[in-house]
Amino acid sequence: MDANEHRLHIVVPYRDRAEHLRQFVPWLTAYFARLAVPLDYRVTVVEQDAGLPFNRGALKNAGFVLGAEGSDYTCLHDVDYLPLDADYSWAAEPTPILWHGAENRPVAPGRSDRTVTSNLESTMGGVLLVPNGVFRQIDGYSNQYWGWGYEDFDFSLRIRARRLPTGRRKGTFRPLDHDNDGFTPEAVPTPISLVNRRMFQHLWSTGKLPQGDGLSSLSFEVLDRTPCDDGTPDGRGRWEHVRIHLNHAPHPDQLAACGGQGT
Ligand code: UDP
Ligand code: MN
Repeated sequence: MDANEHRLHIVVPYRDRAEHLRQFVPWLTAYFARLAVPLDYRVTVVEQDAGLPFNRGALKNAGFVLGAEGSDYTCLHDVDYLPLDADYSWAAEPTPILWHGAENRPVAPGRSDRTVTSNLESTMGGVLLVPNGVFRQIDGYSNQYWGWGYEDFDFSLRIRARRLPTGRRKGTFRPLDHDNDGFTPEAVPTPISLVNRRMFQHLWSTGKLPQGDGLSSLSFEVLDRTPCDDGTPDGRGRWEHVRIHLNHAPHPDQLAACGGQGT
């Protein structure tokens, strides 16, 4: 198979970021339309229904399942990074492509005096390409991280613990600002990020690979599916917005740390 004959499925975990999505859809469409070497791509925006805290890992799993049949590799894509110069072409190994633009993020819009610095060398979050075979092999993401944080670290360990090779492409993105749910405006970790850190340490404390939590245990209902109009003549059918309900429950500590509701 020629390198650009692989089919790409982009999965965007999503809830309550309408202003970001409004920018993301036309931006990504224009970006892909201008590629010198065209890529065969589709996009699923997976929206979690209201009620429980956000579960980014489980949403990415659901997005993967919804598009795995018709694709060869999946891009797990945050809605708040717009590509300026990034390589989304086939990757045979898990490959983060977000680099420039993600170094320092404000804790809240306008708070450039308080920033969160990511260790980009060690992170796999943001915008990540994964071959579908590898995603299945590592059982996708854990479904147990609710609210904010640590599902990406967990995902990296799923790869590292199996000694699977990874790649890295240093793409340039334009970040969109938002309140950071992991840190207070004073840049102190929030209660939910501390609870999820404990959860992460607990899940990996045995020295054995956690089993049975991921794609294999995922359960969700599709509430509705609507095509997104990306504004281009052949665009209809390329973008889909799928609202789902997750049949999983957070730990009481996670609910308490989120104030009982979605963050
Ligand atoms: N997200 C969302 N609604 C939320 C929380 C997260 O849509 O309430 C999605 C969105 O795609 C976002 C991604 O999950 O870009 C990562 O979450 P967030 O931006 O809060 O994480 P951080 O900026 O701290 O990495
Ligand atoms: Mn963000």
